[in-house]
Amino acid sequence: MFTFVVRPKIEREVAPMPDAFEVNRRNALLLAAGGVAGTMAPRAAAAQGSTMEATSDTHPLAPGWRRFMIGDAEVTVILDGIRPGEGPFPTFGEDQSQETVGALMEENFLPAQRFANFFQPVVIRLGEELILVDTGMGANGRANGMGLLTQRMGAAGLKPGDVTLVVLTHLHGDHIGGLMEGGVPVFSNARYAVGRTEMEFWTSDDAKNGPRAENAKAVEATVVPLQDKTTLLGDGDEVVPGMTARAAFGHTPGMMAFEVSSAGERLFLMADTFSHFIVSFQRPDWQVRFDQDKTAAAETRRRFAGMLADAKVPLLGYHLPFPGLGYVERDGDAFRFVPETYQLLADG
Ligand SMILES: [Zn+2]
Repeated sequence: MFTFVVRPKIEREVAPMPDAFEVNRRNALLLAAGGVAGTMAPRAAAAQGSTMEATSDTHPLAPGWRRFMIGDAEVTVILDGIRPGEGPFPTFGEDQSQETVGALMEENFLPAQRFANFFQPVVIRLGEELILVDTGMGANGRANGMGLLTQRMGAAGLKPGDVTLVVLTHLHGDHIGGLMEGGVPVFSNARYAVGRTEMEFWTSDDAKNGPRAENAKAVEATVVPLQDKTTLLGDGDEVVPGMTARAAFGHTPGMMAFEVSSAGERLFLMADTFSHFIVSFQRPDWQVRFDQDKTAAAETRRRFAGMLADAKVPLLGYHLPFPGLGYVERDGDAFRFVPETYQLLADG
């Protein structure tokens, strides 16, 4: 029997919540205790109707947070929301046919034309720092049952006001949407960090006037006002002791992955390098619609997948199925994603 390392204060500090959320929290505690939650969650889901249509809050994957240790660093993945829809073609495999992409899905026990996208910020307690990496959809996602970051941080015993540093992997809307609420910074005591190339691109005339003007506008409204408290990062820069920025350009011009290392263990936060757990690994060269530079994005995927496979180091993927945690193995000229099961659970 395994249990997560869960700080006792978490149970005490959880504020009263609506009924539906209480159920989710009970599942959380069962999961945390390594109990039979595997049978509980589907039962709750059955009561809610179709799982693909359930909102994030009633989804069987609720409670929506998962905690584990990397050395002495406490890592909590928070599920900001889930967006089910059609796909993965043509978002993934844009340069392929629907039949080819569908066949790969069916080979891997997935529906040919259904796809669920996940959105997962991460909170890391590292030394004296409480670091939030990416911020989810924020208020813009609420109508669709997303933007649950701060609510679920609360359920996991984490307070927005305690966050000391907000790190942004890149400046797409689903990563910066939670920075502000009604024009006010949500993480009121935090400083910020983002890649220098990324910041320069989104504040450039090119971005403001080109096909990505909408996103540039969001950056202007939510990221630029924080720039006095923002550190700009380059490849290899130490964000804080134990956390290093690694250039992962391609998806956006300056996206950064982050390497966390503590007490001899490592974890890579890969942001949107690998956004589909089959396609991104088994067909790393297939074009992805949201990759701005498709050649660079594929090169970045291959470079990191090879490194992660050889080093046998776990990764987190922002859009991979919750909690987006796993390993990479080589498979011929490509790779496979191996979801984490109990490798990172501490003996209880
Ligand atoms: Zn994204």
